[in-house]
Amino acid sequence: MAEIRKPNMDPKKAPMPAQDPNVRNKNFLEVCTGYSKETAMTEATRCLGCKNHPCVSACPVGVHIPKFIAKVAEGDFKAAYEVINGTNALPAISGRVCPQESQCESKCVRGIKGEPVGIGRLERFVADWYRENVVEKPVKPESNGKKVAVVGSGPAGLTCASDLAKKGYQVTIFEAFHTAGGVLVYGIPEFRLPKAIVKSEVEKLEALGVEIMTNMVIGKVLSIDELFEMGYQAVFVGSGAGLPMFMNIPGEGLSGVYSANEYLTRTNLMKAYLPEYDTPVMKSKAVAVVGGGNVAMDACRCAKRLGAENVYIVYRRSKEEMPARVEEVEHAEEEGIDFKLLCNPVRVIGDEHGRVVGLECVRMELGEPDASGRRRPVEIEGSNFVLDVDTVIMSLGTSPNPLIRSTTPGLETTKKGCLIVGEDDVSTTREGVFAGGDAVTGAATVILAMGAGKKGAVAIDEYLSNK
Ligand code: FAD
Ligand code: SF4
Ligand code: SF4
Repeated sequence: MAEIRKPNMDPKKAPMPAQDPNVRNKNFLEVCTGYSKETAMTEATRCLGCKNHPCVSACPVGVHIPKFIAKVAEGDFKAAYEVINGTNALPAISGRVCPQESQCESKCVRGIKGEPVGIGRLERFVADWYRENVVEKPVKPESNGKKVAVVGSGPAGLTCASDLAKKGYQVTIFEAFHTAGGVLVYGIPEFRLPKAIVKSEVEKLEALGVEIMTNMVIGKVLSIDELFEMGYQAVFVGSGAGLPMFMNIPGEGLSGVYSANEYLTRTNLMKAYLPEYDTPVMKSKAVAVVGGGNVAMDACRCAKRLGAENVYIVYRRSKEEMPARVEEVEHAEEEGIDFKLLCNPVRVIGDEHGRVVGLECVRMELGEPDASGRRRPVEIEGSNFVLDVDTVIMSLGTSPNPLIRSTTPGLETTKKGCLIVGEDDVSTTREGVFAGGDAVTGAATVILAMGAGKKGAVAIDEYLSNK
């Protein structure tokens, strides 16, 4: 008779081991060090294996959560990986950066009377275990002779390419940067997502036969029309939303003002934090990061690690309205970031050489809710003050770059520059051109981009099969 296991009714998740805050704020090594086998198996026994599994419906790629967790509880980590990998091509990445608290874990029944099961932590454990213990190169499928071009190598492009390659398509990814991975390599810092993990996922893709061409800016080096002329029968655009927004306040042109995208790209992709690389990035003493999202948290934590003594987050609402993940805010606070909440910049102050010497801000209070449902911040007259900083990083959101739209006849976008797609979420207004991820939704999440990449692969397969 099968053994009946009693569930572990501990109301709390097994804690995630992490580097000490005062050590980690001086290095770029990963903050969280991951579960051991024993901890993973203990945490797995908190899952009740619910028949209707509400957690699965809240995962954008439909990972069969109770099934993989049951395998972890048994200690069969290879089988657990196979369950996850059936629907999620990048589990080591999603296990680290998915906003689990608002996705799978938000629907976990264990969350009603305590903390939900640590689904993301278990997913990460399984993916790491597999990478470290199983040496299996994916088998290159037999070609069906059809060529597809993918523009952009972020999570949307990588997922679409992987699913199409598995079906036998000959896929080429065209990437503007010199390294594949999109935001996973140029935006999210090493201490949250080690680049070796992204590299190993990209290598798996290459083993499936996907060709990756870097330094290829589509719209400049080649147009989408030229891709069709070269024999590609369909194109998936996963070019993201990398165009930064600014506040349009006086002084934003001064030396020492960065967009978060530029600051993070210099730090992460061009490795400004390593002495052997000579990428220029300010060695700042005091930094103000304007914004309250994940990107702002990454920028302020990088500034601290690059040696700034004082790092401020300047955000015009209160902590409750911050769009960043709670865990990221907590980590930033632990690492010594000073949160200036209910404050809004009005002017960047420069010296006679055009260099930043301060940020003038005004205090705010919360008024009535606006269209987004969040309470509107209102200036408190006469409450201006100056933060003594030598660097200001603007982290106010991004939108898609207009290059592809402006060089592709028939490709339509919304006023915000997002590509318009049909009911299937991926067909654009131009026949044979499909799109997904941030290029369609505006800045969103890794797992939503991956979900869009999957849909793109299904739609392209259907389109080319019927052609
Ligand atoms: P991207 O990842 O942006 O990839 C697009 C790729 O297309 C890039 O490599 C770009 O160089 C390339 N490209 C652009 N134009 C062209 C062109 N013309 N020709 C060729 N190539 C082109 N999400 C989470 O879920 N969790 C997080 O913790 C999180 N943290 C984040 C931190 C930062 C700093 C940033 C910036 C974003 C973060 N996000 C996070 C959001 C998430 O990374 C994105 O939603 C996701 O990467 C979007 O994927 P994508 O494939 O659509 O685009
Ligand atoms: Fe949860 Fe993200 Fe994994 Fe889905 S992919 S199970 S949402 S961590
Ligand atoms: Fe397990 Fe929670 Fe999903 Fe139930 S809802 S199957 S307890 S993870």
